[in-house]
Amino acid sequence: MADVLDLDCVIVGGGVVGLAVARQLAMSGRDVVLLEAEPITGSITSARNSEVIHAGLYYATGSLKAELSVAGKHKLYEYCRERNVPHRPCGKLVVASSKEEVAYLEKLSRQAAANGVEDCYLIDAAELARRQPQIKGFAALVSPSTGIIDSHGLMQAYITDIEANGGAIVCNSPVTAGELTADKVRLSVGGRDPVEIEARLVVNAAGLNAWAMSERLLGLDAATIPPRYYAKGCYFALSGRAPATQLIYPVPEPGGLGVHLTLDLAGQARFGPDVEWIDTIDYDVDPARADKFYSAIRRYWPDLADGALQPAYSGVRPKVAGPAAGGGGDFVIQGPEATRHPAYAALYGIESPGLTASLAIAQQVARLTL
Ligand SMILES: Cc1cc2nc3c(=O)[nH]c(=O)nc-3n(C[C@H](O)[C@H](O)[C@H](O)COP(=O)(O)OP(=O)(O)OC[C@H]3O[C@@H](n4cnc5c(N)ncnc54)[C@H](O)[C@@H]3O)c2cc1C
Repeated sequence: MADVLDLDCVIVGGGVVGLAVARQLAMSGRDVVLLEAEPITGSITSARNSEVIHAGLYYATGSLKAELSVAGKHKLYEYCRERNVPHRPCGKLVVASSKEEVAYLEKLSRQAAANGVEDCYLIDAAELARRQPQIKGFAALVSPSTGIIDSHGLMQAYITDIEANGGAIVCNSPVTAGELTADKVRLSVGGRDPVEIEARLVVNAAGLNAWAMSERLLGLDAATIPPRYYAKGCYFALSGRAPATQLIYPVPEPGGLGVHLTLDLAGQARFGPDVEWIDTIDYDVDPARADKFYSAIRRYWPDLADGALQPAYSGVRPKVAGPAAGGGGDFVIQGPEATRHPAYAALYGIESPGLTASLAIAQQVARLTL
């Protein structure tokens, strides 16, 4: 029988959330090993998003998304300042393109305040035109604490902290099978140097694969695994100058926040993500989707020129609720009590605002497992 490596704490998945969890547990004194299937960390959903630091406006009060995005945003700004992670609190405008949507903005403003986001305020069409002359609307909700971040810079800072606290990150190490024993989790790790591991704590932070990872664990009560849905979102890049200096959002659509204008730290504009419910993951961006983008964007930027959009990239949202339920659904963060096993924790449905909330999610996992 092959030797079994005896470890304290194993994190499966090296996206921004797995890295944040590994960092938090290593800083709390655990011996941490993070296993990542790919040759590098942060190359899946954590590399395929809008890189927005969300303020926490939309989520139902009392949900984990509301609580952890607001707490995570404050922690993230502080961390970025301390660690020189490139970011910019550029603010965002949620634009109403009809009178009915103005009523939605008023509701959103109340929702934001209930979530502890106290700095939002409404502006009228004239003020919107003064601030962002190319953007048209009946009114806008201003969110000053929304920002943008270099997500790879952030992940690099997490890696530095993990290693400084004695943790190890091992890439090319897919977890292929596992079993729950009385008080440990046993994992089979494939890749170039296959190995068997036994750990006192395993945290499943495998993102889109979190469900598959749990399904592979012999002895896990399948009733603890939530439903799984995938919602793909495509982005189109804008050739030429950005039409605004802040992020511009329409009112949300079921499953996503609507095709919005985001800026990267160099000021380059891109639009997305839309929502497409899928069963099988692929990252192709069909150029034909551009038609819908042009019409969605022209609701708030009528001067968008024909031919200005180029297919860019896509990401897939891991979700626990599907289109029939309106595409919402909260983060699911299970400690040993919820997984019904003393050595297993699992994270499901960590879609947006998972990047924003990463430090707060990590603290939540630490609270549940330490
Ligand atoms: C289109 C889109 C836009 C978004 N925009 C924003 C935004 O603007 N702001 C925001 O806050 N959030 C945003 N998000 C959400 C954010 O990107 C995610 O919440 C976050 O990246 C999730 O990180 P993760 O570590 O959970 O998952 P991932 O980044 O997917 O990492 C999981 C890792 O696990 C690894 N893995 C999988 N299976 C195994 C295995 N068996 N063994 C070992 N390793 C394995 C994978 O290779 C991967 O690296 C967006 C998401 C999408 C899809």
